Amino acid sequence: MAFCPKCRYEYTAGITSCPDCGAFLVDTLPPFEPEPEQERKFVNVYTTSDVIEALRLKAFLEDAGIPCFPMGLQSGSLFPLVLAGEPRGKIELHVPADCEPEARQILEELKQTEPIAPE
Ligand SMILES: [Zn+2]
Repeated sequence: MAFCPKCRYEYTAGITSCPDCGAFLVDTLPPFEPEPEQERKFVNVYTTSDVIEALRLKAFLEDAGIPCFPMGLQSGSLFPLVLAGEPRGKIELHVPADCEPEARQILEELKQTEPIAPE
């Protein structure tokens, strides 16, 4: 049995390269490796219970080119914040791990210029 390591298709014996992509076939497939994009890690840079504040900070971060995903904590699990909903409890602002230092710096600067209201 032969497999294409790229397409992960199985071919009958006798074929040495993949008709689709030209890669040399292998006897056994290597373990599946997820795309780098799927491995992108997100970290929480801010926790608040104020949805307005969360959305305001999200807007600031996105203005700076940092994708920001507010996550609402519901029943012990995090879910993407539904903007139209009425989230209760904790909201976490998640950004890609590689943007974390920049995001924290922006939040720090915001805190100094306009005090973020305490809970
Ligand atoms: Zn192939």
